Amino acid sequence: MNNTFKAFVIQQNPDSAAKQKTIGSIETLNNADLPDENVLIKVDYSSLNYKDGLVVTGKGRICRQLPMVGGIDLAGTVLESADDRYQAGDQVVVNGYGLSESHWGGYSQRQRVNADHLVKLDAVFNTEQAMAIGTAGYTAMLCVMAIQDHGVTPEHGPVLVTGAAGGVGSVAIMLLAKLGYQVTASTGRVDACKAKLTGLGASEVVDREAFNVESKPLAGEKWAAVVDSVGGQPLATILAQVNYEGIVAACGLAAGMSLPSSVAPFILRGVTLRGIDSVMASQQRRARAWKLLSELIDLNHLASLYCIEPMSALPQLGEAILSGQVQGRVVIDVNA
Ligand code: NDP
Repeated sequence: MNNTFKAFVIQQNPDSAAKQKTIGSIETLNNADLPDENVLIKVDYSSLNYKDGLVVTGKGRICRQLPMVGGIDLAGTVLESADDRYQAGDQVVVNGYGLSESHWGGYSQRQRVNADHLVKLDAVFNTEQAMAIGTAGYTAMLCVMAIQDHGVTPEHGPVLVTGAAGGVGSVAIMLLAKLGYQVTASTGRVDACKAKLTGLGASEVVDREAFNVESKPLAGEKWAAVVDSVGGQPLATILAQVNYEGIVAACGLAAGMSLPSSVAPFILRGVTLRGIDSVMASQQRRARAWKLLSELIDLNHLASLYCIEPMSALPQLGEAILSGQVQGRVVIDVNA
């Protein structure tokens, strides 16, 4: 077996005066360069998520050590395993678990990972489709699970999805619509994306600016549940509109880290603000999420949701996702 392969490696920027302290480039590595983990994987695909945008552009301090191989997702085939749970030929996925932060990630034709971090791929999906879902889609599933576990059913009323044209939002719409919920999609790209979001299952598409305004502590009740990937002022405004004992599954910060809200929705309406973290979610929760994804994802809808790009496009793609220009999902073909 040829021991060399390509990877997108993040390193210290040699220009110490530059604003971005790290830069990424495609490098040739050797098997011996890989971390000392117990499963060697031939990677087929990774994907592009908001956090990947921060890493590949050097705009976020995500990498905790350098050099770092980027990519918070990977899907591929086991080549060698020192762990009995996995054999050569198994198709597997890793989402998060510190990939691209503290562990080398999926922008690489080969990677060594900890067997505890793997999920066996359901036969329903090939590796390309698994990465079309990726961390964004699996996080959307975690949000929907939180809504279901809270007891919200389609009869309780409309569910709002923010950041609707992005990765988490698009998949959340598909999943909620498939489960029979009436979905309202909030987007900054109504003209460009309305048809697509309706096609995914949204029954209403609204301009996100409606939520980007200060709100009274409580407003009229509108939403039985919310999948929120934007945070900031929109989340504060939306909290004031959630129905009595409704729930917001909050996973993102595309509109900002702050939350200029009040306790009124919690203490007067019993609203639940449920934080969603995909990175360190338990194996049990991941397995449940991937099982549900295999039952709920319509592969034709999924096909309409993503494009495939090579690793060489990562710097431009990183800028695009940070500026909200990416629609749906981007799969990264590490072998192109
Ligand atoms: P995307 O860039 O694909 O989607 C984000 C969407 O947010 C954009 O498409 C846009 O949707 C909307 N948006 C962008 N900027 C703003 C703004 N200033 N105000 C309001 N809305 C805005 O990213 P992902 O879907 O991959 O991730 C979404 C968020 O979720 C990110 O913050 C990411 O870090 C977070 N995330 C968190 C995870 C976790 O484990 N907690 C896991 C995965 C993601 P539109 O054009 O429709 O308005």
